[in-house]
Amino acid sequence: MKTTAEIRKSFLDFFHSKGHQIVESSSLVPHNDPTLLFTNAGMNQFKDVFLGMDKRPYSRATTAQRCVRAGGKHNDLENVGYTARHHTFFEMLGNFSFGDYFKQDAIKFGWEFLTSPQWLGLPKEKLWVTVYQSDDEAYDIWHKEVGIPAERIIRIGDNKGAAYASDNFWQMGDTGPCGPCTEIFYDHGDHIWGGPPGSPEEDGDRYIEIWNIVFMQFNRQADGSMEKLPKPSVDTGMGLERISAVLQHVNSNYDIDIFQTLIAKVAALTGEKDLTNKSLRVIADHIRSCAYLIADGVIPSNEGRGYVLRRIIRRAVRHGHLLGAKGSFFYKLVPTLIDVMAEAGKQVKENQVTVERLLKLEEEQFARTLERGLTLLDEALMQVKGNVLSGEVAFKLYDTYGFPLDLTADVCRERNIGVDETGFEREMEAQRQRAQSASQFGADYSNVIRVDGSTEFEGYTESESLAKVTALFHD
Ligand code: ATP
Ligand code: MG
Ligand code: MG
Ligand code: MG
Repeated sequence: MKTTAEIRKSFLDFFHSKGHQIVESSSLVPHNDPTLLFTNAGMNQFKDVFLGMDKRPYSRATTAQRCVRAGGKHNDLENVGYTARHHTFFEMLGNFSFGDYFKQDAIKFGWEFLTSPQWLGLPKEKLWVTVYQSDDEAYDIWHKEVGIPAERIIRIGDNKGAAYASDNFWQMGDTGPCGPCTEIFYDHGDHIWGGPPGSPEEDGDRYIEIWNIVFMQFNRQADGSMEKLPKPSVDTGMGLERISAVLQHVNSNYDIDIFQTLIAKVAALTGEKDLTNKSLRVIADHIRSCAYLIADGVIPSNEGRGYVLRRIIRRAVRHGHLLGAKGSFFYKLVPTLIDVMAEAGKQVKENQVTVERLLKLEEEQFARTLERGLTLLDEALMQVKGNVLSGEVAFKLYDTYGFPLDLTADVCRERNIGVDETGFEREMEAQRQRAQSASQFGADYSNVIRVDGSTEFEGYTESESLAKVTALFHD
């Protein structure tokens, strides 16, 4: 059985053998792209190449790109713990053609890698594909050249209501390169609930999307119109953890080698005996995004990227509390994380001291108010009317106890209760009107450094900031 590290390597080797340059993963902090919160796909670092504004010495590339989808256009934070296939942090395996090959080779390379006995050797009959509604060319390649029977090729349009990516027109965000796509799904078997893509049961865990191949043809403008790209190109993305689940014969990403090791460590640290406890999965997921975000220079703060990071850390700490963790535990996962990530753990390993210390500081700080906040929330939940927690309570938790709104919502959701977000915003606005600062809660490292994604501050870059924080710890 292949380990996740071996699958990562196989992918890069395969595309290297097809003339692709192996390119390093870029940072999770997309430099020079104000439209993007975090790197959310392998194509991000090549955006300008697709647009014809940047040139590379190669026209084919392959990467294993670290991605975070928590906030921004592709946000999977709320899926973690609820689906078998979503993480906040994951690695996207990709192959790219910059005006070189197009639909035919893109499809054939993908198929060869997945099904050839020399490579992954997956059973062909378990693979399903979708194509963009009107894309007869892609349909014919799958049907006539690859030989997939019509029953397993599904046409999907962009009119399903969901704004992004659950249709067959991929886009990075509101603007930027985009185009029709074809997606490859794996059928995990009829013992699992779910239906093929496009069916009413598609949200089940039986048919899981493993690979998305995008035919990059347009550049979406701010007014929504689409301009043709200089050269038709290809961008693909396959979730490493999802293909690993397939090859390791498990249905859930959380049952692959990387996650099993992390989950066992969380269980050992918290004393949890039931290894299927959802909180274990959430924490194992969150340590990856938090450690990598810090390693890539994001510092917990009260705004922008730093606040997204702080929110994820606090969610993890709350789940640790739920498991009965005594004292700080979250940062203790870092060495295990570095181990399981193999080659891809380099970034965290190089910044291990800073990552661990920042996580520990954040955890200690939140621990001071977590318990009291949870008591208040518990009491409020017992008196809730109509299954919605009031905006006033959510705001008090935010303002006095440092509970980000999504953390409160996460607790409420476990009891099928919603949060009055409009009411929360109203309280927030009222406080702004009173001309007080947003929230004084939490260490703000901003007197030392400033990093965030939302202000005009033109100060230190993330790596300069990281260097400064690291220097503080070493003094
Ligand atoms: P889904 O429909 O399952 O949410 P997607 O269509 O949003 O996936 P893409 O934007 O097409 O995903 O990304 C390319 C590939 O990256 C997907 O086919 C999948 O294998 C993987 N992937 C996407 N989101 C995640 C995630 N949150 N966690 C793990 N892997 C992911
Ligand atoms: Mg998605
Ligand atoms: Mg999808
Ligand atoms: Mg997709």
